[in-house]
Amino acid sequence: MSARYLPFCLAALAVLAACQRQPATPAATATAPPAPAAATHAFQPAITGDDFAEHVKVLSSDAFEGRGPGTPGEDKSVEYIKAQMQRIGLEPGNHGQWFQTVPMVETTASDDTELHIDVAGKPHVLKLGDDMVVGTRTGQPHVSIKDSDLVFVGYGVDAPEQHWNDYAGIDVKGKTVVMLVNDPGFHVGDDTLFEGKRMTYYGRWTYKYEEAARKGAAAALIIHDTPGASYDWNVVRNSWTGAQYDLPAADDPDPRLPAQGWITGDQARILFGDAGLDLDALRKAASQRGFKAVPMKAKLSLELDSTIARKQSRNVVGLLPGSTHPDEAVVYTAHWDHLGRHPDEPGDNIYNGAVDNGSGVSGILEIAEAFAHQQPPPQRSVLFVSVTLEESGLLGSKYYAAHPVIPLDKTVGVINLDALGVYGKTRDLTVVGMGSSQLEDVLKDVAGKMGLTLHAEAHPEAGGYFRSDHFSFAKAGVPAMDIGSGDDLVVGGKAAGDAAGKDYNEHRYHRPDDEYSPDWNLDGVLEDLDAAYGVGRELAAGEQWPNWYPGNPFKAARDKMMAGATVTTR
Ligand SMILES: [Zn+2]
Repeated sequence: MSARYLPFCLAALAVLAACQRQPATPAATATAPPAPAAATHAFQPAITGDDFAEHVKVLSSDAFEGRGPGTPGEDKSVEYIKAQMQRIGLEPGNHGQWFQTVPMVETTASDDTELHIDVAGKPHVLKLGDDMVVGTRTGQPHVSIKDSDLVFVGYGVDAPEQHWNDYAGIDVKGKTVVMLVNDPGFHVGDDTLFEGKRMTYYGRWTYKYEEAARKGAAAALIIHDTPGASYDWNVVRNSWTGAQYDLPAADDPDPRLPAQGWITGDQARILFGDAGLDLDALRKAASQRGFKAVPMKAKLSLELDSTIARKQSRNVVGLLPGSTHPDEAVVYTAHWDHLGRHPDEPGDNIYNGAVDNGSGVSGILEIAEAFAHQQPPPQRSVLFVSVTLEESGLLGSKYYAAHPVIPLDKTVGVINLDALGVYGKTRDLTVVGMGSSQLEDVLKDVAGKMGLTLHAEAHPEAGGYFRSDHFSFAKAGVPAMDIGSGDDLVVGGKAAGDAAGKDYNEHRYHRPDDEYSPDWNLDGVLEDLDAAYGVGRELAAGEQWPNWYPGNPFKAARDKMMAGATVTTR
């Protein structure tokens, strides 16, 4: 999502309790309705504002009910996208099928869950919600942990390219690791450490749990602090209580912990104090090179009961085979899912998701059409994947990356569109997480010819790069870029752009009012799409293999993959 729409659409951000409430039932396939007709609109081969608007109008109409996975809105959405891909002349991209089924596990921890922590003989009981949150992503209805030793592991980071390992010299198998949120550079504000205030991959809580699982821990607890998390405890509480979504463990290359959660800063202070440890001093120590993990003289016990439900949704995959290198592909992604309908809310309770992400889906359809009419045709294949369950944790893209239809070492690069700006022509483009990969060099050329400058998103401390579908590919090693609209409007400049973004965030983002409006000015969208198309056109016409920039955490996986080795994702 573009910088000006800062709070990304992804529920994993956790601000978005609304996203977690969407009903998702097994998608009905036998009774799928015919694709909704857009027969009155004459689509042009070129990327046009009228065509784009037509797609958005249909996808964000009330008839699509906010495109909730597992609802009738899913059937309408995927059938529409499939019908448009067919009309454009794409082929079914998933080994002859238009759809890729994405399995999902919904896990709800019991409300009365407690953490029992014994600190040097003194018992502590932490309650779900007020003191801590905890859950499992194993799909197990019952998880039991008894007397697991607590170890403070600083920021819980093992970053070979940064020469940093909080797990050095300690075996945490079967233990419970306790760690700080964000990364070692954040709290001290040292720009030479992990990019200072800018959030790196190692600052994400998802990374921390996965790393703990790779090290064999039984459980991991993150100590909350508001600046480090960029949200307060209520956000953690709201997003971690109630249903949690994930791929089935067997379909996910990432390892899973038996239990993972957060504790409040206040509870941490009490526990550390009783263990004779100074949390503030340890926080400082954890930002120093050579930090050593500290055993806490404390033990955790947990009996965790969860309700487990298995469901599914669908990615839509369209392929334009390359003329000379059909085995290699450039991939475009845009999530079709949104937050559905919330029947318990009075008034308009359809979350139409026109910008988020009707705009991105419409964008890749327009780009697909431009490719389909391109002369000479693209030499490499171009794959268009409209993924599901982004709002539930990037699950559709994660599943695709684990089950790619064109192997990842034959995937040249990924371009993602998520929420475009509809406020007119800009002088710039936003590259979320700028400074990541050589895809940006290609974009820079393309944008330069269009007279557009590139810049990073406005709030890199929020970790926007890790919050839409391109990230699923990045994690698997494939260079992936999220192109967003600029914020320097030709009419009104940056002040007007920022004001428009703020207005969207405050009034429409993840609300029923994210609706199509005939007042939209699509001149900026057309620039964004031309640029996004231009990058893919370059890549599909050439033989280049852009890589991550040196020092990027995903470069090692790409290097290994291209050398023909088997890659495990980070
Ligand atoms: Zn989105």
